[in-house]
Amino acid sequence: MQNRSPSKRLEPQSMDYRSVLEEIHAAVLPVVGRGRVADYIPELSRVPPDRFGMAVVTVRGEVYTVGDALTTFSIQSISKLFSLVMALQAEGDAVWDRVGREPSGTPFNSLVQLEHESGKPRNPFINAGALVITDILCTRFAVPENALAEFMQKLSGNQAVHYDRRVARSERTHADRNAAMAHFMKSFGNLRNSVELVLDAYCRHCAIEMNCVDLARAVSFLANHGRIPSSGEMVLGASLSKRLNAVMLTCGTYDAAGDFAFRVGLPAKSGVGGGIVAVMPNECGICVWSPSLDESGNSHAGTLALELLTTLTGRSIF
Ligand code: GLN
Repeated sequence: MQNRSPSKRLEPQSMDYRSVLEEIHAAVLPVVGRGRVADYIPELSRVPPDRFGMAVVTVRGEVYTVGDALTTFSIQSISKLFSLVMALQAEGDAVWDRVGREPSGTPFNSLVQLEHESGKPRNPFINAGALVITDILCTRFAVPENALAEFMQKLSGNQAVHYDRRVARSERTHADRNAAMAHFMKSFGNLRNSVELVLDAYCRHCAIEMNCVDLARAVSFLANHGRIPSSGEMVLGASLSKRLNAVMLTCGTYDAAGDFAFRVGLPAKSGVGGGIVAVMPNECGICVWSPSLDESGNSHAGTLALELLTTLTGRSIF
C-alpha cells in the first residue's frame, strides 16, 4: 500500500472512497480476528471474530461500503455518544455540572477516580459518566430506552433500529460493576433516579443493534455543524456540535484516546461490540466494525482501518 503524497490529494467532491475502502479492506484482512472478542456476556462472546465492515456516508449523501457493512452488531458504548447528544439537547451546558470532560487515563469501567472526585465522573464516555447521562434521560423521558432507539431511527433513517432484549437482559445480569458505580454516585447525590431504573435503561442503550451504514449516517450530523445532512434539521447547535467532537477526540476511545488521535486524527467513539464511529468534519460520517478488540477495548482491525483511511486520503482534522 502506498502513502499518497499530499500534493496528489483529491478534492472533496472527487474523493473515490470506493477504491479507498477496498484498499483498506485488503490491507486489514491479515489482522482481522487478532485480539479478543468481548466475553463478559455470552451473546458478545459468540460473535465470529473474523468479521469486518466499513461505511462512509458523506454530507452530500453518498454511501460507500465494504465487507460486512450491512451486518448488525451490538453498538455498546457507541450509545454513550447519542445518549449524550440527547442530554445536551435537553439540558445544554448544565450537563457539565454533573460530568467532566477530561480524559480519564483509566479503563472505561474503572471506579478509582470516583471517590477522589466526589462522585463526578471524568467524562460522559466512560461507564460512570454514561450512567449519569442515562440518569438525566430517565428524568426527562418516561421510557428512556425507547427515546434513544427512536432518536437512532431518526438519525439513521432506519425505522428498524431497536435494542436486543436478550443482550439487554444479559448485560443487566452481569452489571455488578456498573451497579457499584451507580450506587457510589448516588451516595454523592449525583444520581436522581433509582439505581435499578438507571441500570435498566443503560443496559438497553448498550444493547441497541445497528449496522455500519446506519451508524455512519447517524453520526454524519457531527460532520455537518450539527445538522442532519439530508434534511437540514438541527440536532445540536454548531457550537455544541464542535465541542462534542472535541470530547470525542479526547475521550471517545477510552484510555487509548491519545494514541488514537496520534494514529487516526479524527473524533471517534468506540464500543466493545467492535464498532467505532468517526467524524471527518465537513466531509463524512464513518463507521467500522470488527469484533476483536485490543487491550483498551477498541476494535483492533477497526482502529487500523481508520488509521489507513486518514493516511490514504491525506485527511484528518489536523
Ligand atoms: N455494556 C458495556 C459495559 O457497560 C459497554 C462497555 C463498552 O462498550 N465499553 O460494560
